[in-house]
Amino acid sequence: LDLPITEAGVPLPEALAVLEREVLRPGAATASGFHMAYIPGGGLYHGALGDYLAAATNKYSGVYFPAPGAVRMENQLVRWAADLVGYPATAGGHTASGGSLANLTAIATARDAHGVSSARVTRAVVYVTGQAHHSIAKALHLTGLGEAPVRRIAIDPEHRMQPAALADAIATDRANGLEPWLVVASAGTTDTGAVDPLDAIATIARDADCWLHVDAAYGGFFLLTGQGRALLRGIERSDSVALDPHKCLFLPYGSGMVLVRDVQQLRVTHAHTGSYMQDTHGASGELSPADISPELSRPFRALRMWLPLVTLGVAPFRAALEEKLLLARHFHARLGGLGFEMGPEPQLSVVIYRWVPPGATAQAANEFNRWLIKAALEDGRVFLSSTTLEGTVWLRLAVVTHRTHLREVELAIRVLVELVRQAGGTVASR
Ligand SMILES: *Cc1c(COP(=O)(O)O)cnc(C)c1O
Repeated sequence: LDLPITEAGVPLPEALAVLEREVLRPGAATASGFHMAYIPGGGLYHGALGDYLAAATNKYSGVYFPAPGAVRMENQLVRWAADLVGYPATAGGHTASGGSLANLTAIATARDAHGVSSARVTRAVVYVTGQAHHSIAKALHLTGLGEAPVRRIAIDPEHRMQPAALADAIATDRANGLEPWLVVASAGTTDTGAVDPLDAIATIARDADCWLHVDAAYGGFFLLTGQGRALLRGIERSDSVALDPHKCLFLPYGSGMVLVRDVQQLRVTHAHTGSYMQDTHGASGELSPADISPELSRPFRALRMWLPLVTLGVAPFRAALEEKLLLARHFHARLGGLGFEMGPEPQLSVVIYRWVPPGATAQAANEFNRWLIKAALEDGRVFLSSTTLEGTVWLRLAVVTHRTHLREVELAIRVLVELVRQAGGTVASR
């Protein structure tokens, strides 16, 4: 940034010009509808307006005493999300900066609820799949659980945890004197959007007396749709859930949420206070985020979520999510018809696909798809990404922002077809 911080400052237009040139232009346009890489976040304008009001009024949303309305607003949103998940009245939670922090808070809470002390940690077994988000491993490390044995449970051809394999692993570990305590399931994996069979996993976790955490950072808000509801059945039986309103509620980055079935467990993990806080403890009957989260001072995040939901209602969010599901299926069908090799029918709104040149070896096919994603990024009209699953390179399309519609998905198809043709591939003409 070639604008130094000086004693006297510079006029605002000069600062805005630097912002435009050096910050807003370079890199990816993540608020664009053509952003279909990773798990996009759209950045809804109504959410930005909520942020502006929150920043300008600067209400202190961590504690009820100075900002009862801000805390009640957050608790109302937590209740709304808990109802969506299907949690009982005992549930609670708070907003967080994102899914990573939501996962971290949930795992710290699970650790305390199950009394996993440092003396027990090397025997305390955790169950995930290879498709779990890397923030789970990070959370285990940060919560002092880095030495806990982690079992990567086998997945089916649609990249979902196999419940029978989970039950076997738990039984084997128990027979060997180990202490199974935590199962982490995914409701929408990052690679493929796969949803683990939550209901079957919940039964196994309950029978084994394990805490079940569901990472629903990407997929959770698809509960607003009929297809999502059916797919995520069983999430209501979990002990904790991580959600990311900055993904499928289209809010600006920095919007996560953690929910715990029994809010008292969140409280046990986070109940620390200081004597300078003594004036703030009232008999409001309302839990403050500071009582149940790692944060004290924090942004008034609830306003960016409340303003869009309360003014627009839930219907447009539901409609947008239904559109994303349809667009993913459309892309899967269209590209398959053009001769691309397609991953499984999308469960949510992520599609994996690749172009395999006729007669190519596995290695040559991988090489080609590495070239294809690089060429697509250099082309720049759409933003796609890639991943590697069991040694196979796949390209990904993730339809997540509210600004992605048929036009954007069709352009992605056109770009891919053009690039494959440019490399000498024969794409079916349709
Ligand atoms: C995005 C994502 C995360 C991490 O969330 P952040 O908001 O990026 O911290 C965790 N798990 C899943 C499944 C995700 O999609």
